Amino acid sequence: GNNLITSSNHLRHVDFITNLPSGAGKISHLNAVVLGEASASEQADLVLPSQQFSSQALVPSHQKYLEMYMRSIQDPAGFWSDIASQFYWKQKWPEQVFSENLDIRKGPIKIEWFKGGITNICYNCVDRNIEAGLGHKVALYWEGNGPGFDDTLTYSQLLHRVCQLANYLKDIGVKRGDAVVIYLPMLMELPIAMLACARIGAVHSVVFAGFSAESLAQRIVDCKPKAVITCNAVKRGPKIIHLKEIVDAALIQSAKTGISVDVCLTYENQSAMKRESTNWQEGRDVWWSDVVPKYPYTCEVEWVDAEDPLFLLYTSGSTGKPKGVLHTTGGYMVYAATTFKHAFDYKPSDIYWCTADCGWITGHSYVTYGPLLNGATVVVFEGAPNYPDPGRCWDIVDKYKVTLFYTAPTLVRSLMREGGVSFSGCFLSVYCCFLMIRDGACFYEVILLIAILIFITITQYVTRYSRKSLRVLGSVGEPINPSAWRWFYNVVGDSRCPISDTWWQTETGGFMITPLPGAWPQKPGSATFPFFGVQPVIVDEKGVEIGGECSGYLCLKSSWPGAFRTLYGDHERYETTYFKPFPGYYFSGDGCRRDKDGYHWLTGRVDDVINVKGQGIYAFVTLVEGVPYSEELRKSLIMTVRKQIGAFAAPDKIHWAPGLPKTRSGKIMRRILRKIASRQLDELEDTSTLADPTVVHQLIELADC
Ligand code: ATP
Ligand code: MG
Repeated sequence: GNNLITSSNHLRHVDFITNLPSGAGKISHLNAVVLGEASASEQADLVLPSQQFSSQALVPSHQKYLEMYMRSIQDPAGFWSDIASQFYWKQKWPEQVFSENLDIRKGPIKIEWFKGGITNICYNCVDRNIEAGLGHKVALYWEGNGPGFDDTLTYSQLLHRVCQLANYLKDIGVKRGDAVVIYLPMLMELPIAMLACARIGAVHSVVFAGFSAESLAQRIVDCKPKAVITCNAVKRGPKIIHLKEIVDAALIQSAKTGISVDVCLTYENQSAMKRESTNWQEGRDVWWSDVVPKYPYTCEVEWVDAEDPLFLLYTSGSTGKPKGVLHTTGGYMVYAATTFKHAFDYKPSDIYWCTADCGWITGHSYVTYGPLLNGATVVVFEGAPNYPDPGRCWDIVDKYKVTLFYTAPTLVRSLMREGGVSFSGCFLSVYCCFLMIRDGACFYEVILLIAILIFITITQYVTRYSRKSLRVLGSVGEPINPSAWRWFYNVVGDSRCPISDTWWQTETGGFMITPLPGAWPQKPGSATFPFFGVQPVIVDEKGVEIGGECSGYLCLKSSWPGAFRTLYGDHERYETTYFKPFPGYYFSGDGCRRDKDGYHWLTGRVDDVINVKGQGIYAFVTLVEGVPYSEELRKSLIMTVRKQIGAFAAPDKIHWAPGLPKTRSGKIMRRILRKIASRQLDELEDTSTLADPTVVHQLIELADC
């Protein structure tokens, strides 16, 4: 038994066991127990890009990739300098300034790329594209929470809006190096505010506008901003959230620790709430529309060093207290742009939509900076993906003719699940069967009709939209289980669109392991191969690199331009967390398996490893909507694991879980599950990034059912 545990070593979702003989059809999600990996047949599945797709791709073959990849490893300075030269630099960086020292044994970690080069990322995102003739091209399409609310900004209009805000910020005394906290929903004003800060050399810290006053206050105290930018309220689905009230409470809390903020710039989000009903503190609070539009459309750029800080952003907090990750300007710019271009096989005619919020790294690198640096047209969506119904995403895809669609497995799974409920479909099925039986159809005809109708029913939220414009799909945030991958590929992408399953982290700034669509066949659930300049290595517990087919701890050798430079105000924690565990490497915290063909399979956080010696196996099981929990099902699940994997892997305890504790970016907080399993309920630690704290209480109540 231990052999299997040590070889697979990590927890997997039950979705990987797709051919469970009993009970399987009823499981929507089984978390934190199943050992083992994708079944052999799944691993063998190769999904090839079409000839037509490959022939037009930026990297059309594995061979071309290998050529580029080898150069990026053998001559990183040359490889990245060539790419960086395509951007605007006020002053070029001196040669030989690339630091690649990741070895803690040789002294403190100090990563630098293009140091001494002078540039500005806002200039490169906006002005440079206008100079290249894209002034009239749409930069941002904005789609509001409710269907029918939308707006558009061309690159020229975007520049005007950015400059006005930048001028205002300068006027209130925000200078190069000062921090600005942005607490906004997905309005166009959010990327505008990020770009305005970058334009004047200020450091933005975007806080996801779903965080509580306490979390916001913690971040304000941490970075001591000159100003906070927010809006009065936002509608998320049918619910109104009063953001300004949360900011007010956060500012009261931060003032108690001696950190007071002079200006709270508030955007009036009229679709949610009128300004009259907003709480106001004269002298501190300022309406955006009262001041910003008065400023000129032009604003001089603050030219900064490539190593000047660009932004501070906190990790999702899945594994503990969120970490304040600091990214700098030059290397991040080059890396975000290049990864975007290649992982989505970007073409100037593309319309790109990423469902992530700018409150996460994905929204930084792949809503704002990466796409705009490429002169792309980006859809910014304010609302919830299942509002007013689970077809909303595909409605938006058709409305804007989206070609590149980037989302998270959690959304794919929820749309897949919600696709099932359609009363009209059920009614139609029953009625058709009745007619056929009445008219004397044979048994097989009825079965065939039922199968067709079930298929139509479960896919209708997707299939009632065309989605013909889609070219490439993307996934980020968690491993995407093969069954969700297949649904995404077959149903959403009509078996036509490659899926870029991008593995990366807040810390890495951009994609690290990702398919390049068109370059090689995909395996559902595998993030495939490393991006240019990235050297993933798999090490054992002693930190020894393992070659060939293996599994272990995922580390990275040598640095890459998008790497974070420190944890804000705590360089020691930076070194201890990431570089000390395996000296000589950056340690990602994730487990990974490399198969015989060299494909990488992310297996989740390494602290999710089950050690069966002295520990029991505890499963949190979520059933498909409507399936009742029963003692019989519990037994059948245990028997299934026994039969499929072995007696040692049979769960000791099955805990029915109608919901799981997830971060606001949709990731499962397994550390909380662990504490519930061991009944250490007073040690739940930082739960500030939980999307719905009531789930935890619900789980605790169900603990002994
Ligand atoms: P914290 O570090 O605070 O615990 P977090 O790691 O969830 O939070 P992020 O930086 O947003 O914060 O997420 C990065 C992590 O997400 C990765 O380490 C990995 O575990 C997971 N991840 C992201 N993309 C993928 C992917 N395509 N496949 C597998 N896992 C992924
Ligand atoms: Mg992390």
